[in-house]
Amino acid sequence: MEKLMQKETVNKKRKPRIVAGPCSAETEEQMMETAIRLKSAGVEMFRAGIWKPRTQPGNFEGVGERGLFWLRKIKRETGMQVATEVATASHLNAALKYDIDMLWIGARTTANPFAVQEIADALRGRDVEVMVKNPLNPDPALWMGALQRIREAGVKKISAIHRGFSSYGKNIYRNPPQWQVALEVKQQMPDIPMICDPSHMGGARKHIASLSQKSLDLGYDGLMVEVHHNPEQAWSDKNQQVTPEAFSRIVSKLIVRDEKSREESTKLDCLRKQIDRIDDDLLELLAERMGVVTEIGEVKKEQSITILQAGRWQQILGKLEERGKDMGLSQVFLNEIFKSIHQESINHQEKVMRG
Ligand code: PEP
Ligand code: MN
Repeated sequence: MEKLMQKETVNKKRKPRIVAGPCSAETEEQMMETAIRLKSAGVEMFRAGIWKPRTQPGNFEGVGERGLFWLRKIKRETGMQVATEVATASHLNAALKYDIDMLWIGARTTANPFAVQEIADALRGRDVEVMVKNPLNPDPALWMGALQRIREAGVKKISAIHRGFSSYGKNIYRNPPQWQVALEVKQQMPDIPMICDPSHMGGARKHIASLSQKSLDLGYDGLMVEVHHNPEQAWSDKNQQVTPEAFSRIVSKLIVRDEKSREESTKLDCLRKQIDRIDDDLLELLAERMGVVTEIGEVKKEQSITILQAGRWQQILGKLEERGKDMGLSQVFLNEIFKSIHQESINHQEKVMRG
């Protein structure tokens, strides 16, 4: 897989770990077909959910233990390492019976310290790798608490998976990344590798490449991506899964920048990374704002209200300028930037009115 990735320089090797496979194990044929095609694409670590924690009842909740049999078969026949999600001690014991190499704790489970402790207790004395997804809520302490519980149980190989955080309302991403939360965990627990899950973050195929690249640029240690031999027919998360071949194309375009060691990287580099991240967040926020503006445009069209309501806008601008002043931003700057945002919003609404 490393061969597939572009490298900017070759003097220092940084080899992101790649874990790929379907959201859920569905049938033996689906598992084998996906695994064989991923193996030919150079993937060495295969994932599949056997017990699926679903937000709402009535959705596919996983095939259960027989999926472990398929995972072990994939391990034996392809030589790949295999991973699945565990949410209870009994899941863990079942997975270990089938020789599963890596286990991950899902976002809904990480949020519950009782559940994490139960798994940690059952892990004592067992030799298995554990990956801990971030909790649903953006709370670095809760995430680190879960990592600590697993570490205190004596587990040697632990990593963190950043899959984004739940949010209410419309957003371009299913689970907005809020990169700063993961970067805080990375900073406080630097020995724990950080893996990005762009599939659950973005919730759509089209976001996988850019989120993956962004995570690598932030110095992440690997990716976990949902890959299905026939994504359109997947029983869960079908919008965010890609075929093994599409995944291979995405990976081949990723650029792995050789990271200078922590000591070598200058303060300036760190600050520039922060600026890049903030600019990116600003862009996403602007795009999100235009999404809401467009919806408002639709309501205005329905109710035959004019686009421009000058009174409301003056009121908003006044409030923003006052608040911004307290944050050390000049009035001229605020005026210019918000006028320009307002103009772009009007343009978006005009498009709705015309359309
Ligand atoms: C999954 O990896 O399929 C999954 C259920 O993920 P999460 O816990 O991140 O929602
Ligand atoms: Mn999934």
